[in-house]
Amino acid sequence: MAEVGESSGAKSPQEIWAKLVPSDSRHSDVEIKSDEIVICSVIRLSSFDEHAWCTIKRNSDLCSATLQNKSSTAILADEAVIHNGDTIDIRCGSEIIPGPDREGYLRYRFKVMPRPETSQKQLKICIDVDHAKCSICLSVWHDVVTVAPCFHNFCNGCFSEWLRRSQEKRSSVLCPQCRAVVQFAGRNHFLHYIGEDILKADSSLKRSDEEVATLDSCASIQSNLVIKSGKKLGRKRSYSPLHEDDHSVELPCPQCGTESGGFRCDHNTIHLQCHACGGMMPSRPPATTVPQHCLGCDRAFCGAYWHAHRVTGTGSHAMCRVETFQPISERTISRIPFWAHEKNRHEQDITEKCIRQMGRTLQDVITEWITKFNNREIDRTRMPLNHAERITSGTHLCNDCYEKLVSFLLYWYRISMPKNLLPPDALAREDCWYGYACRTQHHNEEHARKRNHVCRPTRGSNF
Ligand SMILES: [Zn+2]
Ligand SMILES: [Zn+2]
Ligand SMILES: [Zn+2]
Ligand SMILES: [Zn+2]
Ligand SMILES: [Zn+2]
Ligand SMILES: [Zn+2]
Repeated sequence: MAEVGESSGAKSPQEIWAKLVPSDSRHSDVEIKSDEIVICSVIRLSSFDEHAWCTIKRNSDLCSATLQNKSSTAILADEAVIHNGDTIDIRCGSEIIPGPDREGYLRYRFKVMPRPETSQKQLKICIDVDHAKCSICLSVWHDVVTVAPCFHNFCNGCFSEWLRRSQEKRSSVLCPQCRAVVQFAGRNHFLHYIGEDILKADSSLKRSDEEVATLDSCASIQSNLVIKSGKKLGRKRSYSPLHEDDHSVELPCPQCGTESGGFRCDHNTIHLQCHACGGMMPSRPPATTVPQHCLGCDRAFCGAYWHAHRVTGTGSHAMCRVETFQPISERTISRIPFWAHEKNRHEQDITEKCIRQMGRTLQDVITEWITKFNNREIDRTRMPLNHAERITSGTHLCNDCYEKLVSFLLYWYRISMPKNLLPPDALAREDCWYGYACRTQHHNEEHARKRNHVCRPTRGSNF
């Protein structure tokens, strides 16, 4: 019977981060200390000969490892056969057998040790809960927004309601806490996590589900709002003699000075900043105008808005072309997006080949799958976009979100394609146990090429 032991030549003493635990308790655990280790098999019956059996290399996530077979016989890892030189991702609980058959060999479980406090990257800080409360509702912030220049924080819902009332009164927006004129408001993601951690630590501070739902229904701040008025900005700018006779530059957006499409900004108009071009547009109520936010990422984009108001670039304002923010059905695509198949280039090539073999174009395939998507024939659980359930072919998406949607559809195209339509070399490959969630495919070219990764995981945390 062959048993394995840690390689000699271990480096300086380190914490044991993982172990190979044998199924038979008469044998001892193999402790793994260094980030990369050669495990040797010790043939007890002969003369304590050591043979390299495999290497185990800790992955950057610190909770999985890459195992490479260094022996002449196969290794079974999670029931996959690993030949000499092949690698596989293993994680806590993976079963490793010094194959080729399961009989007559010790089975090992790969076990990742819990990390000691010191190696955790989390920093513990003390916070007075009162400093994490909204001064409008007096509870811990929910979906916190920060206003500038005073940097006070409120719940999105609470501040949105305040904003709406100020707009109704057509007065400038004052900070509810200190009465400073608010020039900017935006979601604060860092404080959002702090708020969540506080609620996790003390659940008695949590609000009821109904309260949260009411707050969410009032929340209107999706992306950064620029509340600074045109007039003020103008006055400030005119201090510079360079801009004295160039009045158009002083106004945040094209609708500030001139009426177009039946609307003109006044000095209390709140502006949104386009994520693509950095230009400004007035924030308009969603029901009365074309979309100003991408439903996939909640960021603001100006392309559709200016197109609908027939405002074209004048040179004095940054402005997007209509193509950058269009309904899904009006978009076209000519190359496989970078995100497709978890950025696995081999799988992207296979998809490209499949499409070509069938005498079709990427656009044909996507048009067909958008129809299926629109008819709700596709499960949207894994769709990497916000508000996935609300998206239809008429939804405006930004370029990034559209490419993510196309990538999502290409996964479905591939997974539902009869195997015999795959190119022969792709057909011969076995599915990777970790499927699309496999991390090895990102750092191991050979593995990425040898195994199919357009499949569901049958192992691992996403299983
Ligand atoms: Zn509040
Ligand atoms: Zn304030
Ligand atoms: Zn304006
Ligand atoms: Zn988007
Ligand atoms: Zn823009
Ligand atoms: Zn894999």
